[in-house]
Amino acid sequence: MRWYDTHGRKSLPWQQSPTPYRVWVSEIMLQQTQVATVVGYFERFTARFPDLAALAAASLDEVLHLWSGLGYYARARNLHRAAQLVVAEHGGAFPTTLEAVAALPGIGRSTAAAILSLAGGQPHPILDGNVKRVLARHAGVDGWPGAAQVLARLWRLAEARAPAARVGAYNQGMMDLGALVCVRARPACGACPVAADCIARRDGRQGDWPAPKPRRTLPVRTTAMLLLHAADGVVLLEQRPPTGIWGGLWSFPECPPGADIDTWCRERWGFATEGSERLAPLRHTFSHFHLDIEPVLVRVQALPERVMDAGWVWYNSRRPDARGLAAPVQRLLACLSDRS
Ligand code: SF4
Repeated sequence: MRWYDTHGRKSLPWQQSPTPYRVWVSEIMLQQTQVATVVGYFERFTARFPDLAALAAASLDEVLHLWSGLGYYARARNLHRAAQLVVAEHGGAFPTTLEAVAALPGIGRSTAAAILSLAGGQPHPILDGNVKRVLARHAGVDGWPGAAQVLARLWRLAEARAPAARVGAYNQGMMDLGALVCVRARPACGACPVAADCIARRDGRQGDWPAPKPRRTLPVRTTAMLLLHAADGVVLLEQRPPTGIWGGLWSFPECPPGADIDTWCRERWGFATEGSERLAPLRHTFSHFHLDIEPVLVRVQALPERVMDAGWVWYNSRRPDARGLAAPVQRLLACLSDRS
């Protein structure tokens, strides 16, 4: 606690006016993303949606638009859905018990504890990635923290070590210790406030804990994305189904492997194409597979009206509007505008 009071971070944007809503948004953004990246996203997001009511009233498209580039879009969909649930089931007031908060979509036990301790001063310890690393090293906990037994042991340690008072400051201090001192590679043990009784330091085994996730080779999937573009620079985008990869985001149509592109476009949309050009492939890696994307630039003569239904749009990247775009789609759109 003394270390936190002297060295901890206290000027991050979500630490100013730390309402449950602001802490919640920051915790969700920080789940898979570095602080330095999150700061800008957090400021734009909370400027547009200053409170839970504003988020609940927004369209999913706009929420995804503000999330574009952060990745792991299920986080944004859950955030939006949870805001609507809080309005519908809790009268718009953020719940105040660990169980009720952890029951909301996308919020696990540690995130619920972070919200209630940092914004409400409740005495719940947290166990995010940084805290797991500090505890695993300090107590010499073997095994991958994602394994149920290892996780249970870490939770017991987290609970046993939390102080009776100022748990919010303690949790913030633990996160900061993991982020600033007990970092993944080459922890700064000489500057660590708990070095005196740290097992990893005593045994010189900082590199052994926490144990990495058991390795498995990711499978590779392949898809062809059609960049259907008309003379005035617009390209056809379709909205993906709400579940699955890039759920609810806008993407280029995907053509079945081996299909004849001209025939496929005629049958699907009723328009002819004017030749195609294969662009350099790109790989996008998800947590459970690699997706190898083969982009094909396809020129379309006329702008057919019938694909202007909901779920399809002729998109002009020179006049971008508020819609969520999958990261590889953003890269391909940038690549298209570089060519024009
Ligand atoms: S002494 Fe080193 S390994 Fe142990 S908790 Fe501190 S920084 Fe981490």
